[in-house]
Amino acid sequence: MSAVSPSAGAGGADPGWVRGDCGWRCGRPDVPVLWVGDVASSGMHAPLHLCGDCLRQLDAMVWAWARRRDGVH
Ligand SMILES: [Zn+2]
Repeated sequence: MSAVSPSAGAGGADPGWVRGDCGWRCGRPDVPVLWVGDVASSGMHAPLHLCGDCLRQLDAMVWAWARRRDGVH
């Protein structure tokens, strides 16, 4: 069931990148993905891997949340 397998240099110089299925919005299979953390659902945890495009979307979402949390409007 594990679609992610380590592959050196799959996404460039960053060693955190592996080749696998994007677990975010695009859902593309067999692309360079980065593990961003575990997600929790139904009381269970699963690793979340994102491709570069979705990583940028998530990054923007996290920054927007951080700005709201810090009271910056
Ligand atoms: Zn993606």
